[in-house]
Amino acid sequence: MAYSLKPLPYAYAALEPHMDAKTVEIHHDKHHAAYVANLNKALEKYPALQSRTIEQLVTDLQSVPEDIRTAVRNNGGGTLNHDLYWDLLSGKGGGKPSGALAEAIAKKFGSFEAFQEKFSATAAAQFGSGWGWLCVGEDGQLCGCCSTPGHDSPIMKGIAKCPGTPILVVDVWEHAYYLKFQNRRADFIKTWWNLVNWKKVEELYLAAVK
Ligand code: MN
Repeated sequence: MAYSLKPLPYAYAALEPHMDAKTVEIHHDKHHAAYVANLNKALEKYPALQSRTIEQLVTDLQSVPEDIRTAVRNNGGGTLNHDLYWDLLSGKGGGKPSGALAEAIAKKFGSFEAFQEKFSATAAAQFGSGWGWLCVGEDGQLCGCCSTPGHDSPIMKGIAKCPGTPILVVDVWEHAYYLKFQNRRADFIKTWWNLVNWKKVEELYLAAVK
């Protein structure tokens, strides 16, 4: 197996009450795990590609053989997006960012509250399954909020309509919230803010603008 499922950085129940343990368990152990398994399966006939990182694979999908390109896009993207998603959540999260990131958000969006509103609305409006993002663009500045369909990522060159380095992400696939919120995606997003690990987001921001 070329790639393995990254373990959750906390227990299933660590994100309660905002995200229930059952949702976290099924989301990570079934959905996320399936993307890793399907990525490995797609790469079975191309052992040479397995020495690449998943980032390298999905950043440059044009260099991936056409017969497995869609599988790598969906499952490599699915693997990577979930790795980041879990990493940026914490049972002790929420609140607001500080330092340089707080300043950049205020400069770009006017205020933290205005940013939250824009990010939430953009993620909620993604048609069908997808992801909501905040990224740093190639100019080293925060991009406006964006969303991607399926498991596409802003790092996918030639595919992403909003290219950039992700620093914050929310999963808006129904599997991310259906057990607790059913069809109420906007309510899930509103609750998800309580889990954002701003320290980690700030680290990604500082690394991206360097
Ligand atoms: Mn998901």
